[in-house]
Amino acid sequence: MSQHFLLSSKAKTLSVVQVMNMTDEDAFNLLKTLRWGENEENIYCPLCGHIHKPYKIASRKQWRCKECLHTFSVTSGTIFAHHRLPIKIYLAAIALFVNAVKGISSLQLSRYLGVHYRTAYVLSHKIRESLMVHRDTELLKGEIHIDGAYVHSSIRQKNKKSDRVDRRLAENQPKDKRCVLVMRQGTEKTRTFVIPSEEENAIISLVKKNVDLSSTICADEHRAYNILHGKYDTKRVNHSQEYRSDEGVTNNYAESYFSRFRRMLVGQIHKVSNRYLNEYANEIAYREDMRAKPNGEIFNDILSKCLNTKPSHHWCGYGYKNKLIQEALSV
Ligand SMILES: [Zn+2]
Repeated sequence: MSQHFLLSSKAKTLSVVQVMNMTDEDAFNLLKTLRWGENEENIYCPLCGHIHKPYKIASRKQWRCKECLHTFSVTSGTIFAHHRLPIKIYLAAIALFVNAVKGISSLQLSRYLGVHYRTAYVLSHKIRESLMVHRDTELLKGEIHIDGAYVHSSIRQKNKKSDRVDRRLAENQPKDKRCVLVMRQGTEKTRTFVIPSEEENAIISLVKKNVDLSSTICADEHRAYNILHGKYDTKRVNHSQEYRSDEGVTNNYAESYFSRFRRMLVGQIHKVSNRYLNEYANEIAYREDMRAKPNGEIFNDILSKCLNTKPSHHWCGYGYKNKLIQEALSV
């Protein structure tokens, strides 16, 4: 029997030990190469965007733009701008984030790195934001599996039986109940959305924006997907009876996404605010799409996304403005 990919040496090309053994010079060179490539001619100024070989201020590991005279470093204009911790700690955080295949809580990250909880919280959200900013926007094509699942789906019952309420009634539904909708093109392209509930208008509007008309859509028996018939080639599988219909229709890619998503919510994050549900859902989409890639490749991919994401308006100064951040729904 062939060895499982994740057990093979090809899957394990990076460890936190390797990152921590890097010299400052190694870390600097890695960032520089991932941001601008090997050639110094391709360095662009984060202020004016001019691409050229800028003046080098070697003693400070900085450059000065020949166009606008802005002085910048390898982290200027990225989510690591104005960093206070050694750069290696950020690299270690990304390595830990990559290797935690079902997500990592900020508390756990703060214990590993020896930093305050809030530092780890903001850092992991900046990584999630970079994944969100760089998510693919091309139309999905071919066989698309679609499904929705609820978070915060029911209120917690009281201990005493006499104090309990009927959770089926509308007035006892939690106000923060949300639906995460997923569309998957095979195991390579996954797109997620947060909607108030699994209903026709939201589904058709998101499908129109994200799925090519020539595609075949596989959905379960939920009536909200009836609207797709006639507009798209739509196939159904009735999950109350089977997971694969006699015609071979399944919705398994969507199910596999939710399997990982649920494990993150139950086993790692425990409590998720609706304000960041989009980012958490997209993080798992990214993990699903990258599952068959070596961890060193995922590390480089996430790091280059972080280095190509502007400093976060959301997360800079999070301590004093966190209450201003609003929930973002997809429709
Ligand atoms: Zn410039």
